[in-house]
Amino acid sequence: MPYSCVVLVKQVPDTAHISGKAMKEDGTVNRAALPAIFNPEDLNALEMALQVRDRFGGQVTVLTMGPPRAADILREALYRGADRVILLSDKKFAGADTLATSYALKCAVERLGAFDLVFCGRQAIDGDTAQVGPQTAEKLGIPQITYAQSILSLGDGEIVVARAMPLGREEVKCTLPCLLTVVGSANRPRPPSVRRAIAGKLASTPLEYASVLERWPEFGSEEALDAYLAAHGLKIPLWTADDIGADESHLGLAGSPTKVLKVDYVVLGTSGSVEVSPDAQGISSLIHDLVEDYIL
Ligand SMILES: Cc1cc2nc3c(=O)[nH]c(=O)nc-3n(C[C@H](O)[C@H](O)[C@H](O)COP(=O)(O)OP(=O)(O)OC[C@H]3O[C@@H](n4cnc5c(N)ncnc54)[C@H](O)[C@@H]3O)c2cc1C
Repeated sequence: MPYSCVVLVKQVPDTAHISGKAMKEDGTVNRAALPAIFNPEDLNALEMALQVRDRFGGQVTVLTMGPPRAADILREALYRGADRVILLSDKKFAGADTLATSYALKCAVERLGAFDLVFCGRQAIDGDTAQVGPQTAEKLGIPQITYAQSILSLGDGEIVVARAMPLGREEVKCTLPCLLTVVGSANRPRPPSVRRAIAGKLASTPLEYASVLERWPEFGSEEALDAYLAAHGLKIPLWTADDIGADESHLGLAGSPTKVLKVDYVVLGTSGSVEVSPDAQGISSLIHDLVEDYIL
């Protein structure tokens, strides 16, 4: 039976490759010093969705809410195998906290029509809250399975998923449609395909037409480029707040109760050392202490 899968992905600053000062004097993120990348666990979410499609058939639609340059990760999703990608971008989304983000994503998923599975990464490496997946499920009124490690079975309107737990794993069965948040150890994301990258090199949103025309002036005008991209399945749809029928009071700053009052640097220091005897008993007592202290 084919499944309609939606994957929610976020473009994030690459915190592992900082070129310059990561924070500005005012405590905000210096995005110029951080290249933008596909949130790592969203690649695992995409791979899990692609494996469902490859095995059972259906379609994988990838959605992101972000600024115009977030189209870069949508192209990457296409090159990795997604069937359809959509950019949600509008000044009305700016300043969104997790509540406003999940509200916009919920409206967009509903606009797509019937779906069976929504996949998210467990957590984004910048905001780091792991709230957006669960909040989106709650707003869609569907069950959620967080920390998804693997799909054990899928069929007859049900899914069984293994969840990665700190000290083992848990198997959870639930009805479809449902939302999964996927952990980084779930799979090895497939690389972008060269064939798909060549075929999709012109894929762009209407917000990028001016820069596409600079590189390929032979298209002549934005109208002609739009017609070409639409005819060849290379037009990345751009959805605004109006397109998804969102209530503006729940979007962006207006819909965000979170207020950042201050940003502090936290430096973790060491205050001593513990000697562990190099035998089974020593290791066992160390593990026991780490679990007691909530470190493991
Ligand atoms: C305390 C705090 C205050 C904040 N205040 C502000 C603010 O005032 N203004 C502001 O602009 N931002 C603010 N943010 C950032 C904003 O909340 C997040 O960028 C955004 O809501 C996503 O949350 P996250 O990064 O924690 O994602 P997580 O919840 O960690 O992401 C989990 C998963 O949800 C999905 N997902 C997350 N975001 C998107 C997206 N945009 N599109 C598609 N899928 C997505 C992905 O699958 C991702 O892996 C704040 C964050 C925090 C922690």
